[in-house]
Amino acid sequence: MMTRCVIAVWLLAIGAAYAQKSEGPQPPVVDPGGPGKPPSDAIVLFNGRDNSGWTRMDGSPSRCTVADGVMTCKTGALDTQSTEKFRDAQIHVEFNLPSEPEMRGQGRANSGIVLQNRYEIQILDSYHNETYANGSCGALYGQSAPLVNANRPPGEWQSYDITFHAPSCAADGSVATPGSLTLLFNGVLIQDHVPVRGRKCVADAGPLVLQDHSQSVGRKIGTATGVTEGAPDTTMKFRNIWMRRLSQ
Ligand code: MG
Repeated sequence: MMTRCVIAVWLLAIGAAYAQKSEGPQPPVVDPGGPGKPPSDAIVLFNGRDNSGWTRMDGSPSRCTVADGVMTCKTGALDTQSTEKFRDAQIHVEFNLPSEPEMRGQGRANSGIVLQNRYEIQILDSYHNETYANGSCGALYGQSAPLVNANRPPGEWQSYDITFHAPSCAADGSVATPGSLTLLFNGVLIQDHVPVRGRKCVADAGPLVLQDHSQSVGRKIGTATGVTEGAPDTTMKFRNIWMRRLSQ
């Protein structure tokens, strides 16, 4: 009797397992790509050949230059935005910072990736360069410090892999649900599904912005104690920028 019960329960368990396995559609097939090659369903934001898909914030042509698969944005290029707009997205971007040993804190190779032109993921040379934690490289600027400092030295290519969900807005313009950010920096988890908050809730999609901090564009950076001059000219390099939409 006991043996029959055990067998019956076992058969029911097997049946339930098979029933679970048979539910739901198959996921779409995606070629995952590899180094320098985006997944097959990604939107390529920077094609490595020219500035198509990028402008200044006023819509005029980008002042960044392109050669050998690299977009180079020098001080004075001003902020550069993607023509592609998004809300929720997986984003990959690689960047290379100049060496500015004479500068410290926020003054040393400062740029940023601004999601929807609202939420900045800080780009800064934080390799042996301390500043306030929620303004260091990989910080959701002013909101969330990175879990660890995973910086490579300036001059080496580094990567951000971003999973971003925009805040959702209530009818009265308040935030119904905060957004979220998960960020891998050089493959290391440094933002673990942290909330993303804005001063006001904006439901519209927005561009990806490559930030130009410089004294010549009127956004002079506060430098470390004892450093009286403004931020130096900075040459930022970017490559392999792509996005996968997680919503329309
Ligand atoms: Mg910045």
